[in-house]
Amino acid sequence: MKKIRLYHFVARLRESFETSFGKTIDRHCVLVAVEDSSGLIGWGEAPVDDGPWYSYETVDTTLYVYREFIIPLLKKHSGIEHPVEFQDIVSSIRGYRMAKAGIEFALWDLYAKSLGKPLYKLIGGVRDYIVSGVSIGVIGDMDRLIKSVEYYLDRGYRRVKIKIKPGWDVEPVKTIRKLFGDIPLQVDANAAYTLFDKHVFLELDKYGLTMIEQPLSYEDLYEHSILQSMIKTPICLDESIKSLSDAIAGHRLGSYRVINVKPARVGGILETIKIHDYTMMHNIPIWIGGMLETGIGRAFQVAAATLPNVRYPNDISESSRYYEEEIVEPPWTLRSNGTIEVPKKPGIGVEVLEEKIEKYAKRKYEYKLA
Ligand SMILES: [Mg+2]
Repeated sequence: MKKIRLYHFVARLRESFETSFGKTIDRHCVLVAVEDSSGLIGWGEAPVDDGPWYSYETVDTTLYVYREFIIPLLKKHSGIEHPVEFQDIVSSIRGYRMAKAGIEFALWDLYAKSLGKPLYKLIGGVRDYIVSGVSIGVIGDMDRLIKSVEYYLDRGYRRVKIKIKPGWDVEPVKTIRKLFGDIPLQVDANAAYTLFDKHVFLELDKYGLTMIEQPLSYEDLYEHSILQSMIKTPICLDESIKSLSDAIAGHRLGSYRVINVKPARVGGILETIKIHDYTMMHNIPIWIGGMLETGIGRAFQVAAATLPNVRYPNDISESSRYYEEEIVEPPWTLRSNGTIEVPKKPGIGVEVLEEKIEKYAKRKYEYKLA
């Protein structure tokens, strides 16, 4: 590797997206471009935000950890031959999994491009298309929610997930069941409840939900095991699973029956594969989630969703679901049967529109590696 470029990138969402922890309209992230001596470029994305909301990692902590710790290590190891070496190189740095993922992704893209192979093949993917579900934010207005569900089902999305928070939980589920019947439906609390709210989950348990995602604290495994023992609806963990060891501990405790794996949350592709292989061995289904990634981050979600143990629809939407403008070509589009085609070109398989990134980037940094 010869150089690395970092962009603090901001994309305006078409409409604000609300979860139990806040509202987003401008999506911040750090885009990463690594270049080798032949001029080949690999792209990655750390889907961090402008504040510690979903995760403690932010744009500024990411840029800081890159500049002070990760890039100096990369300079020492600029002859890195395979992206699986990256986690070892940065193993002296604790945490900062999303920051690490941003660079690891770029190394995977570069490596796949250098071999002329699509990324999904390289990581063991087995699908030509991936199945998409839609995630609908906390709307708080029943008529708008109904219109929204109707719209996305019409677009072809294969399951509906709604974000819930105290005061917006049982009623919207009840309404959707009444109007749309037996559609695949799940809820995501983003850690908004405690065990004192168990009545909410005992009530939700009556509606045949596919799963209830991250009902309790974002770091908890133990209390989720108690809640899982009280309800028949599978609990799906998202925020609580940051690594393979969390997946193992949660499995042993009985904290979950499904995992929403976000490749960036767990530190990249390598850790995603480890969690994938562990859950497959124990017959626990997973699916791939997202954090309002740009078209670049989305490519890594798509590649991960081609892995064989991904057995539920994924939170991977078409580009136009969130963004007016896309920074990759072609944009990610949903086919009428609710699937997204997996690109067959080398690397992430989509072309990155650098001039758009340059135009919308708030800050840009470049470092020589060798
Ligand atoms: Mg979630």
